[in-house]
Amino acid sequence: MCGVYVHIPFCQSRCRYCDFFSTTQLESRSAYVDTVLKEWQARSSEIDGGIRTIYIGGGTPSMLDVADVQRLVDAIATPETVEITMEANPGDLTLDKLQALHDAGVNRLSIGIQTFRNPLLRRIGRRHTARQARLAVKWAQQAGFNNISIDLMFGLPRQTLVQWEMDVRAALRLGVQHISCYCLSYEQGTPLTKMVEKGEITPTSERLQNRMYNFLCKVLKRQGWDHYEVSNFALPGYRSQHNGSYWNHTPYIGLGAGAHSFDGKVRSWNPCDLKAYMTGIQTNTLQRESETLTQEQHHIEQVMLQLRTVEGINESLVSNRMDKVNDYIHRGLLRRQGTQLIATQEGLNILNRIIEDLI
Ligand code: SF4
Repeated sequence: MCGVYVHIPFCQSRCRYCDFFSTTQLESRSAYVDTVLKEWQARSSEIDGGIRTIYIGGGTPSMLDVADVQRLVDAIATPETVEITMEANPGDLTLDKLQALHDAGVNRLSIGIQTFRNPLLRRIGRRHTARQARLAVKWAQQAGFNNISIDLMFGLPRQTLVQWEMDVRAALRLGVQHISCYCLSYEQGTPLTKMVEKGEITPTSERLQNRMYNFLCKVLKRQGWDHYEVSNFALPGYRSQHNGSYWNHTPYIGLGAGAHSFDGKVRSWNPCDLKAYMTGIQTNTLQRESETLTQEQHHIEQVMLQLRTVEGINESLVSNRMDKVNDYIHRGLLRRQGTQLIATQEGLNILNRIIEDLI
């Protein structure tokens, strides 16, 4: 069984740190959903068996009309579908809309909160407020959602450790089941990166980033959360099943502009261009680029993805790097459990460096 990702590339405005593919041209939203459904019609035969998970991501999927979400769910879900996630911006949600989304079959929400401090939200260009974030979660719970994830960000410009600690405690008070947490990264060409280049803001030091991350891990662990991937924490039984399939190299189909697909050997992707995607699908002329993973690429991806998880990697994957592995174990950055190698809390702070060394 496989998963389906649907990319909804519409945003009301662009956040200052974002380099994802999205557009603020909102008028074609419904026609875009028509196009995604046409793509699905043409590609659903690529799948043997049912669809286990559906993830509607973006962009900002909560900018779609509920009727369009309903059309996607009705067309793609099968009796085997256990998880239907939709990403949402707090400012787009009302109790009525959440009830309608729940009725449409969405059973997991991923709400982009980022921080509970309004000045920080404004600094990074998010359009919602902390009050809207709290209300969105409360209304989602009232609407019957019992599998809610929130996104938080740390390392924001001029964010202090104390402010971050307050954000983590505020998140825990919401009663959600899943938290994804990312350190702000400065991608080339984004407005925030330009502000750094002009000297208007200074990126958070690595030392402070590590203290923020370690605080989060420590508090959530103490409260019984399952830290199952470097950036993801779940209450027992609430891991993201869809994302889990990416880390295990399970096949998935990506629908929509810019979406990637993987069939176990070949990775392919649609153009990051709304017009090219829509015209291509409507005229049956879409050119999807693709690459066949070599054994070496497959191996590298396995190390990169699985070392980020709490299960770690089988040591056979890095048997030609055992001198480095032993050094990391000796320094307390990796630990061995049977034949698995797992990053320790200290190791997670420098995970990218460890991965680079082992591939
Ligand atoms: S809402 Fe998400 S996709 Fe849209 S601009 Fe902001 S971060 Fe990027």
